[in-house]
Amino acid sequence: MATTEKILDFNSVWEYSPAPESTDHIKLDDKYDLFINGEFVAPKNGKYFRTENPATGKKIAKVAEASKADVDNAVRAARTAYNKYWSKMPAKERSKYIFRIARIMQERSRELSVIESLDGGKPIRESRDIDIPLSAAHFFYYAGWADKLEYAFPGRKTKPLGVAGQIIPWNFPLLMAAWKIAPALATGNTVVLKPAETTPLTAMKLAEIIQEADLPPGVVNIITGAGETGRAIVNHPGLDKIAFTGSTVVGKYIQKTLAGTGKKYSLELGGKAANIIFEEADIDQAVEGIINAIFFNQGHVCCAGSRLLIQEGIADEVVHKLKNRMETLIIGDPLDKNTDIGAINSKAQLKRINELVSAGIDEGGTVYQPNCTLPNSGYWFKPTLFTEVSQSHRIVQEEIFGPVLAIQTFRTVDEAIEKANNTPYGLSGGVWTDKGSKIFKVTKQINAGIIWANTFNKFDPTSPFGGYKESGMGREGGLHGLLPYVELI
Ligand code: NAP
Ligand code: MG
Repeated sequence: MATTEKILDFNSVWEYSPAPESTDHIKLDDKYDLFINGEFVAPKNGKYFRTENPATGKKIAKVAEASKADVDNAVRAARTAYNKYWSKMPAKERSKYIFRIARIMQERSRELSVIESLDGGKPIRESRDIDIPLSAAHFFYYAGWADKLEYAFPGRKTKPLGVAGQIIPWNFPLLMAAWKIAPALATGNTVVLKPAETTPLTAMKLAEIIQEADLPPGVVNIITGAGETGRAIVNHPGLDKIAFTGSTVVGKYIQKTLAGTGKKYSLELGGKAANIIFEEADIDQAVEGIINAIFFNQGHVCCAGSRLLIQEGIADEVVHKLKNRMETLIIGDPLDKNTDIGAINSKAQLKRINELVSAGIDEGGTVYQPNCTLPNSGYWFKPTLFTEVSQSHRIVQEEIFGPVLAIQTFRTVDEAIEKANNTPYGLSGGVWTDKGSKIFKVTKQINAGIIWANTFNKFDPTSPFGGYKESGMGREGGLHGLLPYVELI
């Protein structure tokens, strides 16, 4: 796949003046406690950990580390709230509370966007235009379902499960909290939610919003901590359901732990999605889509298009155009409105990306990175693509969760489908072609929960999201997203 034409040096052609979003309007405390039973309470063991800004490596705040005793308190509060208030409340009253959360989120969206970018490293453009509006939209959407469950499941009655334990990752912190809490509340459950250790701050802001919305105490409890806190939630006997988004390794641990307990669970796990470009596709449109599919949110996206399959006849042209486009990507301050690629979420994640990229080079892959400079402090990784890789290479098989694209070619439609499906995962995929019939033929044969055609990474609360195989079970979003929280009678 030799590229003969010269890659353009766009950096010398134009430069943008910085356009940083202001942080004057946000209020952050030095210390965050646990949100249990409608109040902020100190952790029983008095332990706190630091959350930092990955773009600088500097501490933002101290956050409480919930122990088993705190998890127990939160579960008890959620149980009491379920018995006393939430299960007794008419559905249309429940929905008013959920609407209220959505509206306050909208009112505070600017503050939430800035905090999301500060704590997690993602570009402000994404937090502002995607994460926060979609989070509010999720609450609005499920508020609408709360008193219409009989239409969601015609001919059946629904019963809430009770108390749900919910554990979420760091890549879309507030959005994942919304995906978990909104359908649980709409169906009449109460919750104990744990955000990821590296991105707890918007969840704590959500706790403030829930307090402001005046939800009965204990209906939503938000407790912070690392893996051990998550483990204590999974093992707590007082929960009726576990909803988890995160790695396949932890997902398997949850399945093993819950086997035989009768508890319900839903899992949204990893992915290794393939984008397939056929030779009749609009190449410029496809290139823009591929860039979005893998470099959006630094590739910290479970459904990222981290593999690219290009039909042989157009491979040189596509790779050349991708490299040119990569030269124009702006990497740096997440709070700058021009930034395309922000900081890697944590030191640990950067280490993992470095490890897998080194493995790709050792295994004989050809690596390409644009000619850009990275900031001196914080955690950063250049957008990267690999050619000359094969199915057995680790970078083709393993989830990298970083801005790294592995490119392969194919000749026939069947070969593309076979390669796309040759993975233990089955979360998402993409097809680029101007032939409608081919879209239907190919997408039907790809084993993935979400498949985009001539676009990528488009989300909507009305649309179900979830995986096959090692990418998980159960769906979030849409009316499908109600099912994991109800018993049908
Ligand atoms: P992770 O290590 O599995 O962590 C996810 C959450 O589980 C975090 O809150 C984590 O706590 C907690 N946790 C860790 N060990 C646990 C245990 N033994 N028991 C219970 N909870 C535990 O995943 P991650 O590295 O943060 O997130 C990246 C992964 O999430 C990727 O594999 C990605 O594909 C997947 N993901 C999937 C989706 C989807 O919808 N399918 C969406 C987003 C991400 P701490 O982080 O605080 O230690
Ligand atoms: Mg952080």
